[in-house]
Amino acid sequence: MFCPVCNGIEDYQGCCISCGGNVTDCGRLSDYTSPYAPYEQIAEGQLSQLKTMESEATCCHIIYCSKCQTSKEVYLSRVSLSG
Ligand SMILES: [Zn+2]
Ligand SMILES: [Zn+2]
Repeated sequence: MFCPVCNGIEDYQGCCISCGGNVTDCGRLSDYTSPYAPYEQIAEGQLSQLKTMESEATCCHIIYCSKCQTSKEVYLSRVSLSG
């Protein structure tokens, strides 16, 4: 099982739930645990809670809407290689 977005096979195709505009995929949530992470909206307790929601079947990404200037976490389905 792998995430097609992490592997560069697909671009994230979602849109902002607030304005419907284009959002940017900012990468995996787990990449945002470094001290230099630009994503500051999740408190540490919530972050570990979110990480437990990540599983074999899902990959948690951060998306960012430049219009609303908000970031949000989304769960992408991992796919398995066929063929
Ligand atoms: Zn991913
Ligand atoms: Zn928006």
